[in-house]
Amino acid sequence: MQLDVLGSSGTYPTADHPASGYLVSHADTHILCDIGFGVFGELTRRMDPDRLDAVVLSHRHPDHCADFLALFHALAYGPFERTGIPVFHAPGVVNRLADFIGAGSGHIFHEIFSFHEVGESNHVVVGSVDLRFAVTAHSVPTIATRFEAGGRSLVYSADTGPGGGFPELCTQASVVLVEASIPGERDEHQFAHHLTAAEAGAVAREAGAHTLILTHLRPTLDKQRSINNARAEFEGRVAIAAPADVYQI
Ligand SMILES: [Zn+2]
Ligand SMILES: [Zn+2]
Repeated sequence: MQLDVLGSSGTYPTADHPASGYLVSHADTHILCDIGFGVFGELTRRMDPDRLDAVVLSHRHPDHCADFLALFHALAYGPFERTGIPVFHAPGVVNRLADFIGAGSGHIFHEIFSFHEVGESNHVVVGSVDLRFAVTAHSVPTIATRFEAGGRSLVYSADTGPGGGFPELCTQASVVLVEASIPGERDEHQFAHHLTAAEAGAVAREAGAHTLILTHLRPTLDKQRSINNARAEFEGRVAIAAPADVYQI
């Protein structure tokens, strides 16, 4: 399995660093997981968008789904002829996106994509990849995703605070891709619906993973401090996701 980081900037993008977006591939199967601000352009550097086998939308916050509208425009008005692309999504995402473009029933939006709401413990198969989902502890309905293929596994947290279904979804995963939005130690004034790097490290340790990839770091965070905090909890490999990073899993 291969993970291409298309974007990983927490909350908002910066020049050359889109918000959340990951391309998970195995053999001829390509799954796009989240498509936040700036991710569509990065996707087109890797592949034509009509070759996607599926899209996962973790939740409705725009840093994870805003460029789905760009994907729609390209498929609807560009040189592509593709319908029925499966989209697996948390509750509350699709109606927001459809509202934005005025897509009622019968609109081409619902022809190009085939929408499937997923939640806790749901399981789907896309090509040669198994996907399982869990509901995270976030401020809106949010799904974490476990990808399995060829005996390897990758789990993506999406956005989450401590608890929820994400830690259990990580059990015995090879690689965990975990948000670490909060700088330093947790205190009562920080967001309850995001993780510190140390908390991400603890999830990786308890899962038995060999690699922890931190993601969703805000542009202002001290990255070395985040790595140090994660390493205090996790003895395996620790990295920070960045655009153009490619991981063989
Ligand atoms: Zn986010
Ligand atoms: Zn969020």
